[in-house]
Amino acid sequence: MLRRFCNLRIPTTKNATRRAEIAVEDGRIVAVEKPGTGDGSLNDIVVDLKNALVLPGVIDGHVHFDDPGFTHREDFATGTLAAAAGGVSCVVDMPCTSLPPITSGANLHHKLGIISPKAHVDFMLWGGVSDNAMAEPNWRENLAEIAQEGVASIKVYMLSGMDTFRDLGRDQIRQVLHETERLGIPVGVHAEDRELVHELTDWLQKNGCNSLLDYAASRPAEVEVNAVTTMRNLCRETGARVHIVHVASGRALEVIAKAKSDGLPMSGETCPHFLEFTSEDLISRGSVLKTAPVVKGTVDRELLWEGVISGELDYVATDHAAGQWPEEKKTGNAWTDYGGVPGVELMLAYLHSEGVVQERITLERLVEITSSAPARFFGIDQRKGRIATGFDADLVVFDEKSTWTVQAENLHNMNRYTPHEGQTFTGRVRSLYVRGERAYHRSRNGRETFGPAGAGEWVRRESKVS
Ligand SMILES: [Zn+2]
Repeated sequence: MLRRFCNLRIPTTKNATRRAEIAVEDGRIVAVEKPGTGDGSLNDIVVDLKNALVLPGVIDGHVHFDDPGFTHREDFATGTLAAAAGGVSCVVDMPCTSLPPITSGANLHHKLGIISPKAHVDFMLWGGVSDNAMAEPNWRENLAEIAQEGVASIKVYMLSGMDTFRDLGRDQIRQVLHETERLGIPVGVHAEDRELVHELTDWLQKNGCNSLLDYAASRPAEVEVNAVTTMRNLCRETGARVHIVHVASGRALEVIAKAKSDGLPMSGETCPHFLEFTSEDLISRGSVLKTAPVVKGTVDRELLWEGVISGELDYVATDHAAGQWPEEKKTGNAWTDYGGVPGVELMLAYLHSEGVVQERITLERLVEITSSAPARFFGIDQRKGRIATGFDADLVVFDEKSTWTVQAENLHNMNRYTPHEGQTFTGRVRSLYVRGERAYHRSRNGRETFGPAGAGEWVRRESKVS
């Protein structure tokens, strides 16, 4: 049966929109037409969207939903409910913050069995290689296996705080890149210089420096610049596709931008918290804003926005990671407070409000950085990231003029805290459709309804690195 979405507008170029109708069958878009083109068959289900703006579903390329293993922080049900309410039709979950980590085909299928019945939106899974994984003699076979199974990309850490997913040294990363280059899958890198962070942390702690600003001092921009420079060199040496996750400093961005202009296969993402906050906010908001890397200065923030505008940064992702609130997030010690900010529910509204409404970016660029670019990176741009015939009917109905104030208690993830508390955003998700089925709706009186758990499907990476 055909479902016809009518009376809506879709983005065209820059900030322009055009009126359209979208016909959907079996979860796919079968036509994007001018209003009134449909033959009006009595069997069609008509959904009147009352002249609303419709965007392609957001793809959040970087979330930690912690399931199974750390479900006191997040699980796949709560994480995907928050995603749905935020207009995110596909999340890409990291391999390291669940147990066992996604470092083999068996672990991948174990995880799929647990999370699939809980998913309210579609999902991809990152695979990874850790020091633990490389201790296995067959780690290359394991890596080839998860790539073959369709993981989204391969994650490695140059500095990790997790015993269950330890960081890699340069020679280990070189070995991984030689494999991924051969397999045609990109590598996403947490890029911080572990020797420098350990050295600074030891020195600060020995000298009784225990504030959040001391924590920030243990991870200055240098830490990120050194690590990104190392990755730039390894990218040049191996030819492997390298993506830097959560870029936080302007100088690290410069290294990536230069590498890209030199033709190296590198890319980068940043996060809303790095576009919005600085170390001054770390003082006022406390550990709610503690992350790794850590927020930097106002100059960095502006350079990151420029990167988002120019395309030096390819897309924005949330690095959604929630510690147990308040137990893990307020331990009374800045060094032990959990590092991570939940954000999957707020990214689209934030980027619309601070990007489009503030005239930093166009609507066209908003679609690119939240949907089309991550779809390309994860090799699913044959089916997601656009509103076009043949694509999944992942549609966000967005009230672009609606203003609202962020309150953590109204979010849908498990542990509800946010550095955006009290901020007013312009633009709010009214509904989300995932492959044509409604996954979220907010009625005029504010009542919210969600689609069923298990409606979300695993999406495999389809194409190799081009
Ligand atoms: Zn992360």
